[in-house]
Amino acid sequence: MSRKYNFSAGPAMIPLEVLEQARDELVDWNDSGMSVMEMSHRGKDYLSIAAEAEADLRDVMSIPDNYKVLFMQGGASSQFSAIPMNLLRGKDSADYINTGAWSKKAIAEAAKFCDVNVVATGEDSNFMSIPDQASWDLNPEAAYVHYTPNETIAGVEFHDIPDTGDVPLVADMSSTILSRPIDVSKFALIYAGAQKNIGPAGLTIVIVRDDLIGDVIKGTPAMMDYAIQSKADSMYNTPPTYSWYLAGLVFKWLKGKGGLDGMAEINKRKSDKLYAAIDDSDFYKNPIALNCRSWMNIPFTLGNSDLDGDFIAQAAEKGLVTLKGHRSVGGMRASIYNAMPEEGVDALIEFMAEFEKKYG
Ligand SMILES: *Cc1c(COP(=O)(O)O)cnc(C)c1O
Repeated sequence: MSRKYNFSAGPAMIPLEVLEQARDELVDWNDSGMSVMEMSHRGKDYLSIAAEAEADLRDVMSIPDNYKVLFMQGGASSQFSAIPMNLLRGKDSADYINTGAWSKKAIAEAAKFCDVNVVATGEDSNFMSIPDQASWDLNPEAAYVHYTPNETIAGVEFHDIPDTGDVPLVADMSSTILSRPIDVSKFALIYAGAQKNIGPAGLTIVIVRDDLIGDVIKGTPAMMDYAIQSKADSMYNTPPTYSWYLAGLVFKWLKGKGGLDGMAEINKRKSDKLYAAIDDSDFYKNPIALNCRSWMNIPFTLGNSDLDGDFIAQAAEKGLVTLKGHRSVGGMRASIYNAMPEEGVDALIEFMAEFEKKYG
């Protein structure tokens, strides 16, 4: 077996220990005589798997008791519409911070349901920096404020939680959840597609303060109604059972790594060394403002973009794959989520130095 260092932005690497445990349990889970994939989601075995995953996530993130944790489907993209449907609660406008590609998608979807006020935008800097919160024009009457803590495509990340006073704060944490400890009580709602830092695609985690649910707009599908999903313990219909199980294994793996404090230390070290390698060279460049560089997604360009193809091909020969940047940005992007081992980052840095020596 040879595992590659996969720098994909998503679906992304899953910890090897987790994959091995899943392999060992694949055809017969815990002497049940069946695979988790084959279990009824209403059966005792599966209910124990589901409950344990939720308990471990609550533990890892220190989620307060007055928050519901929902295991939903449809990806983060479905939440772009579920959020206004659930959180407008009789109001007709919401504030959005536009820091790039994913913010824009959330804004476009919300605009189908309410007046969207874009209260701050990074457009002037071509989304390479985040406007200072002092300049945001927040509306105290807004139903909520939505932002994207980590913009996966450009690699722009908030390193502080915005203060929105009494207005509920909503965060698309798809590409940064579980990368470090956060104070969940500062948020009204946190959501994330699983395929970056949680587990396989098909599962979407929603963490929502319980006083905010139960007043949806007319026409909201049952599948998107947080109150209905919450009442059904996220089993209004058949949930993505296997993804939920695998996410549970990842939560246990995180606990073994020292929880989110332990992860944060490793993630900071991984990203610091990759940025240092880029900044210390005259050949590689990362254009993002220093105070908002992402720990998880690190785009970089080569001194000569004609060499992009050679870089990608030669990196692949060393087992360093999926480094091609997003089509809208070009260059390279190294996504280094929790499951990317530090050795993978070291191998990339070593390869970058060799490549620069040859062509720089
Ligand atoms: C990947 C991503 C999404 C889209 O997630 P899906 O689960 O594919 O819908 C949304 N927001 C951010 C920040 C992402 O990184």
